[in-house]
Amino acid sequence: MRTLKQVNFKNERAIIRVDFNVPLNSKIQVTDRTRIEAAKPTIAYILSEGGSCILISHLGRPKGRDPKLSLENIYSTVSDTLGVQISFCKECIGEEAEAAASALKPGQVLMMENLRYHKQETEGDFNFSKQLSKLGTVYVNDAFGTAHRPHASTAIIAQFFENKKCFGKLLEKEVLAIDKIMKKGVAPILAVLGGAKVSSKITIIESLLDKVNHLIIGGGMVYTFIKAIGGRVGDSICELDYCEYALHLLKKAKQKGVVIHLPLDVLAGDDFSNDANQKIFNIMEIDDGWEGMDVGPRTIKKFHDLILKCKTILWNGPMGVFEFSNFAKGTISIGESISESTKGGAFSLVGGGDSVAAVKQFGLESKMSYISTGGGAMLESLEGKTLPGISALY
Ligand code: AMP
Repeated sequence: MRTLKQVNFKNERAIIRVDFNVPLNSKIQVTDRTRIEAAKPTIAYILSEGGSCILISHLGRPKGRDPKLSLENIYSTVSDTLGVQISFCKECIGEEAEAAASALKPGQVLMMENLRYHKQETEGDFNFSKQLSKLGTVYVNDAFGTAHRPHASTAIIAQFFENKKCFGKLLEKEVLAIDKIMKKGVAPILAVLGGAKVSSKITIIESLLDKVNHLIIGGGMVYTFIKAIGGRVGDSICELDYCEYALHLLKKAKQKGVVIHLPLDVLAGDDFSNDANQKIFNIMEIDDGWEGMDVGPRTIKKFHDLILKCKTILWNGPMGVFEFSNFAKGTISIGESISESTKGGAFSLVGGGDSVAAVKQFGLESKMSYISTGGGAMLESLEGKTLPGISALY
């Protein structure tokens, strides 16, 4: 892995592929700066080494030049977050873009217009990549969130830089964190999987069975397993088409010596709402008219004890419908157990979608070893796939 430290940035113009695909409100204001803050260390490092920075990113999924998705809308927030004066170019390729980029002096930052104003970006177009490559003299990829897509500005552009290309600090951290689970995990290694459906996690479960010692299954996908082993799931979310598959996974885990931990009890509601009446059931005996919406108190205790014994922990997916405060306790407790284990020396990685949202919502962010910034990219990494944006840098 070629990192920033292995490249001399003095008087170089670094094209940095960042992920500034930030959430915007109806007034087109940035509502969460996490992604901008995540790019700061790379930009600050290159500037401090005497280079200049050309920031390229996408924002949303524009069909053509949609003004609402212009990066000009966010550039003052970027400037403010980075603490650096930056300039903006209304194009990302062509004469105007190249002129603005080549005029940069060491210490200056230029942000280009939304890459996805050109459909060639997502098509991974060779010529578009070549034009982009003319903006600078070094290429740095720091956009983990799009590393799983073979886009022009991630995977294709890298070929124009032979040795003058490298991982940004964020991308480096993400890859090292994944390696700590998938390649260099210290046993006992635990994966805590939750979320709504088994069907969306199949490849992850299969891939993790080769990596972990323990697997906790929580959230809505539990009920497919419970149904498969002969339990009564009441009105809980259940994918009947996947019961067979759930049995296959349980068998495969046994063959591989992976211990699967299912909940013992469940907090059910008589309606899918925060104000539903609540009742605790044994996980195998949920009555009709009730649906499992969170793990129960005995389960929280059981999972807590296991989590504290593990040295490497991956968490993907909530334990219940955490968006409803009355059914969030299981997810909060699991988060707290993982933070306690982390405090005791375990390595914890929270990755992929809703568990990241839950950790942020419940103020546990600083208590985990690493929280991934990339949903889809993290999921594909956990599936054991090589990401095109990353392999292109080697
Ligand atoms: P995923 O994107 O697959 O990780 O699923 C996350 C979603 O699963 C969240 O919106 C949760 O509300 C939902 N979820 C978790 N547990 C349950 C459950 N027991 N029943 C229905 N939905 C659930």
